[in-house]
Amino acid sequence: MASSSTTSRSTSAGSSSSTARSAALIERARSVTPGGVNSPVRAFRAVGGTPRFIASAEGPWLTDVDGNRYVDLICSWGPMILGHRHPSVLSAVTEAAGKGFSFGTPSENEVALASEIVDRVEPLEQVRLVSSGTEATMSALRLARGATGRSKVVKFAGCYHGHVDALLASAGSGLATFALPDSAGVPDSSAGETIVLPYNDVAAVEAAFAEHGDEIACVITEASPGNMGVVPPEPGLTEALRRITRAHGALLISDEVMTGFRCSASGWYGLEGPYDGGAPDLFTFGKVMGGGFPAAAFGGRADLMGHLAPDGPVYQAGTLSGNPVATAAGLATLKGCTPEVYARLDTVAHSIADAAHTELSAAGVPHTIQWAGSMFSVFFREGAVRTYDDAKSQDTAAFSRFFNAMLDQGVHLPPSAYEAWFVSASHNDDAVEAVLQALPAAARAASETHGSL
Ligand SMILES: *Cc1c(COP(=O)(O)O)cnc(C)c1O
Repeated sequence: MASSSTTSRSTSAGSSSSTARSAALIERARSVTPGGVNSPVRAFRAVGGTPRFIASAEGPWLTDVDGNRYVDLICSWGPMILGHRHPSVLSAVTEAAGKGFSFGTPSENEVALASEIVDRVEPLEQVRLVSSGTEATMSALRLARGATGRSKVVKFAGCYHGHVDALLASAGSGLATFALPDSAGVPDSSAGETIVLPYNDVAAVEAAFAEHGDEIACVITEASPGNMGVVPPEPGLTEALRRITRAHGALLISDEVMTGFRCSASGWYGLEGPYDGGAPDLFTFGKVMGGGFPAAAFGGRADLMGHLAPDGPVYQAGTLSGNPVATAAGLATLKGCTPEVYARLDTVAHSIADAAHTELSAAGVPHTIQWAGSMFSVFFREGAVRTYDDAKSQDTAAFSRFFNAMLDQGVHLPPSAYEAWFVSASHNDDAVEAVLQALPAAARAASETHGSL
């Protein structure tokens, strides 16, 4: 229930709050860094306004350099599943750092983290640790090509797998479109081996394999897409991908960088698997498993992973791979992901999503909320979103007004209409209440010029 004490207690960013220091910092940043940011979405281009420079964070709260406090619904795009500066992760990191930062030799934390991941996700026999989700998918792709001796890869429009050359292609409608690169600097020779298909469309996959079946190394898919907003696979899709790839001697890669250890203790696989026709061949992980530090992984059956150097001919390496501090953070985070944590994520997500639905409905704003476990996103359009084209038909202007009204009231959503709203187990009743209090005005802001744009 709304209580005025919650509002007055939190020093949330109100309309009178200052963003002077953030504004000065982004100005300075622009002179030394392209766009002033080290990852494009942080620049607020889609929503307008001043990106907030965060000075510190605790639990569900962010504090910016001007002293404004926000409920964090980005959670570093997923990793902060336990909340910021969780005591057990902080002490694991402090202890590890006290023993040295990086050795360039094997160290024990790597074994412990790899074991924790292998134990949680049943089809995994081995994992290799890397430093980012991009590295994980890039390496899985190379492994698939090396193991099959084939070069083409199938991906789905709207699925993001990091900024790997071959996977940046997402355009293309119709059946088996040979994609044009989405990014400048990606040569046709890279993207030309990528077949982009519409998501949730088994017939398109069948057709692509009918034409190119013996040239396709793998199909890579987000286990349950979260990078076009949350668009879960329709029942039977994963099994169909398994059946088709197996029939043609291609591999199936399930990208769980976002869903891994978030949707459930064993990721999306834990919710949807095991599959009658068998598990995906390779999995990729990142985000949660690094606990906020650069750690990611890819893995699968031992026979397949055996193609990697030093056992096999597929080269893959990293100076900081398995970094002792990052692996300590990841391990402490995964150990902290108890059944109670998943139950709390569920409660928090449903409280916020239900209230968003109520307030957007009351304000007459067309919207759809979609789920993958406790991961959800709000699309500013009516009707189920099954494909990237559906997702792109949102009213992004309405989202921008909504985003800025939330930000002004002290709630920091991801600055894009195509993202999940990330919650943590540290989102306590105060934090949830602050979100609920901000929703009515934000919903009204979203509705303001609806239909007149
Ligand atoms: C975030 C993400 C990646 C890329 O991970 P980075 O650590 O940003 O390189 C890859 N795949 C999916 C599904 C992701 O959500």
